[in-house]
Amino acid sequence: MSDSIIEVHDLHKTYREGLFVRKQVNALRGVTLEVPRGCIFGLLGPNGAGKTTLIKVLLGLVKRSSGGGSLLGRPLGDRVGRMKIGYLPEHHRFPRHLTGNAAMIYYGGLSGLSRREVLHKRPALLERVGLSKWGQTPVHKYSKGMQQRLGIAQALLHNPELLVLDEPTDGVDPVGRADVRRLLKELQQEGTTIFLNSHQLQEIELVCDQAAILAAGRVQKLGTIEEITKQPSARMEFVLQGSLDDMQYALTFAETEPWQSDGDHLARVI
Ligand code: ADP
Repeated sequence: MSDSIIEVHDLHKTYREGLFVRKQVNALRGVTLEVPRGCIFGLLGPNGAGKTTLIKVLLGLVKRSSGGGSLLGRPLGDRVGRMKIGYLPEHHRFPRHLTGNAAMIYYGGLSGLSRREVLHKRPALLERVGLSKWGQTPVHKYSKGMQQRLGIAQALLHNPELLVLDEPTDGVDPVGRADVRRLLKELQQEGTTIFLNSHQLQEIELVCDQAAILAAGRVQKLGTIEEITKQPSARMEFVLQGSLDDMQYALTFAETEPWQSDGDHLARVI
């Protein structure tokens, strides 16, 4: 069996917008990468780089325009492969009125699990993410970090081999981020492969073994964290742009081409 859990080659995704004036957005422009089984793999890039699109293409939530690959040894888009994946979308919001306990039953149902199965698994999972004392509390009283941990618990309900997390620590305070990172490391030790997106270099550096840097739909750099961050030839610069509410980071590499802009998103260093 291949030891890659995700493998994609020359993946393209073009969104087409507008009824009268057709506009094209090339969100992925030939993405090729491999994620080894057992690692925590980070996809790093600024807003608009194509990170969420890549996750959605991997999960079959949007159709790729061209290119191919495999997920858990099955062709991209295969339903059986997807059943072995736990997914936490970006900006995930639990229905406000639900308690942690009820949220687990609700999301378990969405994954096709019976109430009985969820009731059986729930105590260990809530314990796992440090929320066993909070099961009776409405989710809207949880901190962002607690909500993300509950999100990870629901994504683990069907014992996935691969956990896919879109910006799992975005908006989470420093203590909550450390909790999420600790949890991810523990899950990795128990055999789960983790693929996560982030626009923050530090989040990737602290938790991932390998990473790809995506900018304007292209992989700019791929390798171990050491290779990505430490090599002088791959020196990166993150530049904060705009207000804190609208953070955008620019990346540049000393010896690679600056990114290209798609007209809407920042793609070059300022
Ligand atoms: P990231 O996750 O890195 O912020 P996205 O994958 O969300 O990037 O977006 C990549 C590009 O695709 C952006 O230019 C974005 O505006 C565009 N895009 C994303 N989703 C859609 C969509 N449903 N329709 C049209 N354009 C989209």
